Amino acid sequence: MRCGVRLFHLLLILVFAACGTPVYAQVTADPALFEGFRAADLRLATAGYRLSTANAALCDRLEPGHGIQVHTLDQYAPALRPAVAAHFRFAGALAVEGVVSGSPAERAGVRPDDTIVRFGDIGVAPQADGPASTDRLVAFWSAVAALSPTAPIRVDLLRAGVPLTVTIQPIPACRTRYELAITAALEASANGDMVRISSGYYDSFHGDLPVAAIAHELAHNILRHRERLKAVGAEFGLLSGFGRNMGFFRQVELQADTLAVHLLARAGYPADLASRFRQHPVAKARSGMFQSPSHPHWRDRLRVALAEEARIAANGPGAPFVAERDLPLTGDWRPLVPKP
Ligand SMILES: [Zn+2]
Repeated sequence: MRCGVRLFHLLLILVFAACGTPVYAQVTADPALFEGFRAADLRLATAGYRLSTANAALCDRLEPGHGIQVHTLDQYAPALRPAVAAHFRFAGALAVEGVVSGSPAERAGVRPDDTIVRFGDIGVAPQADGPASTDRLVAFWSAVAALSPTAPIRVDLLRAGVPLTVTIQPIPACRTRYELAITAALEASANGDMVRISSGYYDSFHGDLPVAAIAHELAHNILRHRERLKAVGAEFGLLSGFGRNMGFFRQVELQADTLAVHLLARAGYPADLASRFRQHPVAKARSGMFQSPSHPHWRDRLRVALAEEARIAANGPGAPFVAERDLPLTGDWRPLVPKP
């Protein structure tokens, strides 16, 4: 299993440790590192919350949108847990890392560093020893995603050791978990349940531009591209750019590019965000000679963005390809590129 953001960070810390810096000292001496995790995770959680709630009408799989970014103590290596627990004031195994501004959780009074004791009918087992793992985090997300997207959620918290109960009135949201990977490489993927994006996107693209990539990945999930690619026997990885695979992958890429512009518009992002993202030098370079032929050329992708932005300016956002998401892919990608 690929590790989440914190495991990657801790890997770096452990490498530092091997070079002579004691792990514990490294961690306790640098609370800014922990606050860096928090800020990075919350930035992605905020974009994900906005996209998932604003576009719920386009999603057939929903979850309650609450706006809490959770983290678990067992995501961190055992040797680091005392420092982590002290910094983030864990009084249990699961805690609030951050709260999205303007979200139902914020309205209900949930605060960063509250420990979650019970979330609806979901209990939290005590912290156990064991290697770093995201199993608890993923299991928690899955259990929450299965709750009613609209029913009020009673949440039992501990704040500075004092029990507190709040009721969150969730907003329906597209069922997708957002995960940040800490790597300078530009990596973004969607597997149907999750959107994963690397911190490299935030290093390379400023302001809201990374959200254009996040919206593209969410569009893949909304259009069920992963399962539809599997259904037609498309081959992932190195073979994705060859033979019949190329048509299928270009079809889903262009569909996701198209729908993403509408997802961004519904979520209130700037009207030209997708086209600015496509014209960014890093995006152009990425779709140059080293790009797999599974992905369309940046000029085609820019044409799609500009055409959809013009369409939305004239008619408002739509839901392109959503009505066809139960149909098999055809691999016919050329009609999806607007004529120059
Ligand atoms: Zn894609």
